[in-house]
Amino acid sequence: MALSDIEAAVAAAARQAGRDPASVRLIAVSKVQPLDRVTAVLDAGHRLFGENRVQEAAGKWPDLKARYDGVELHLIGPLQTNKARQAMELFDAIHTLDRPKLAKTLARLAQEAGACPDLMIQVNTGEEPQKAGILPGDADAFIAEARAMDLPVRGLMCIPPVEETPSLHFALLAKIAARNGLDALSMGMSADFETAITFGATHVRIGSAIFGERVPG
Ligand SMILES: *Cc1c(COP(=O)(O)O)cnc(C)c1O
Repeated sequence: MALSDIEAAVAAAARQAGRDPASVRLIAVSKVQPLDRVTAVLDAGHRLFGENRVQEAAGKWPDLKARYDGVELHLIGPLQTNKARQAMELFDAIHTLDRPKLAKTLARLAQEAGACPDLMIQVNTGEEPQKAGILPGDADAFIAEARAMDLPVRGLMCIPPVEETPSLHFALLAKIAARNGLDALSMGMSADFETAITFGATHVRIGSAIFGERVPG
């Protein structure tokens, strides 16, 4: 599907849910995509992109940012502390703050730099052992901890278990955000973004539906 079709589907889902379409931001997830597909989406006027690896993003986005004005880049994949400095320079937002050690590192670097990307805390709503994220039961305390470090925590992010209905996970994430006074909800991918918007998503992360299947490699 083309970018314009996805934009229309996002807006329709928002209206269906009684929401302002402008309250939902579409992150085009460009990881692993061939460069010509990424530049096609840039040429179509889109400026908000997501990448899941610091290294990969560092390899292509400095050049693309020099060629296209107004690009905004969000990190949506796990962040190792030894890449935190590079990530803070490259990304406008980080959706994957998922542990105290990373919070401490980001807080220290933010102090040094006098600036910090917007942050979202990843919550492991399905409590999956192999998945990153704060457990739902620990989320309130971790949000408070991160705020006490003066980190700019804007919202929460989740990736529901593949084999489960996503709505329960979206509802849980929205509930944790609401009781902590957080506005941003990063949830919903190609297969479930319309459901996520119904449950209040402010950032949907869509890759294959915009760019086509990722070429393995
Ligand atoms: C790859 C990825 C996406 C996009 O997935 P699609 O199914 O291609 O839309 C969204 N969120 C995260 C965290 C991802 O790694």
